[in-house]
Amino acid sequence: MSISERGVHEAEFWAKEGDKVRCSLCPHSCLVAEGKRGLCGVRETRGGRLRSLIYGLASSIHPDPIEKKPLFHFLPGTTSISFGSIGCNLFCRHCQNFSISRARFGEFDLSPITPEDVVRYAASTHSKSVSWTYNEPTIWHEFTTAASKAAHAARYKTVYVTNGYIQEAPLRQLKGIIDAMNIDVKGFTDKFYTSTCGGKLQPVLSSCEVAVELGMHLELTYLVIPGYNDSKDEMSGFAKWVANSLGLQIPVHFSAFHPDYKLVDVPPTPERTLSTAYDIARDAGLQFVYLGNIFAGDRDDTVCPKCGAKVIEREGFSVRRTHLKGDRCAKCGAELYLVI
Ligand code: SF4
Repeated sequence: MSISERGVHEAEFWAKEGDKVRCSLCPHSCLVAEGKRGLCGVRETRGGRLRSLIYGLASSIHPDPIEKKPLFHFLPGTTSISFGSIGCNLFCRHCQNFSISRARFGEFDLSPITPEDVVRYAASTHSKSVSWTYNEPTIWHEFTTAASKAAHAARYKTVYVTNGYIQEAPLRQLKGIIDAMNIDVKGFTDKFYTSTCGGKLQPVLSSCEVAVELGMHLELTYLVIPGYNDSKDEMSGFAKWVANSLGLQIPVHFSAFHPDYKLVDVPPTPERTLSTAYDIARDAGLQFVYLGNIFAGDRDDTVCPKCGAKVIEREGFSVRRTHLKGDRCAKCGAELYLVI
């Protein structure tokens, strides 16, 4: 059996529409004719039914620090065994993983894995969690949910690093299956999402709100791209939305852009722009704001919002020192939106 045949699996979230199939996994709602694939490139109609083509097919398997996801408030200082497949449902012109997000079958070596293999990898790497990352986990739904259930049964936590481009029903199905998410909010205008990412803003914001409602641990990443999504108005709108719609405790990671894929002519994000983003978010009242992909000084440390003590000191993706009592500030006992 060829590797692409090995990944074929009955898909969830679709309905027949005439002689075609309507996928309802992500907001694109593709209408997929027999023998054709949806926009993500990994869901195909065969025999009148929608099939996932990547069930149990991994492009990348690697033990990462959880801080690399980035998740700074979820099992800090631990390893997360991380898996990716191929394909994506957004089309970011600045994609830093385009070799797998845009890969077609045959262009990338895929390794067959089972949910039991996922658990074995977690054990052999001394991981505390399993992360679905590198490509978009939403479009790997059938396998990530099956393997996450197996991971839970073996007492590992589970993580999605996602663009948040998922419909509400499949997102709600992840309750109790996925413990934590880092959602990329790629900008704060529909124009940016449409012209640079091939999607829409509102579904991503709705996903963040639903994730909080479902009680998932949530952190956000905002990659700051010069001239694209770095205006003070846009970053301020984003920070105020986090404060008002999600809560002041939600950690936000502003990350530096480096030229990649179709945006090679855009310069890297200047440090001063990231500093401005940091100040805007702190002024909006956000308690946990971090800078990434640059030397951040102490702006990658966690500071207690009540007494100002440094509670987690980091260097790159490593935790250097903690000053915690359980999941609280060792000095004043304040809550820190922390899962230990
Ligand atoms: S998951 Fe894929 S096939 Fe389904 S709606 Fe989204 S892009 Fe289309």
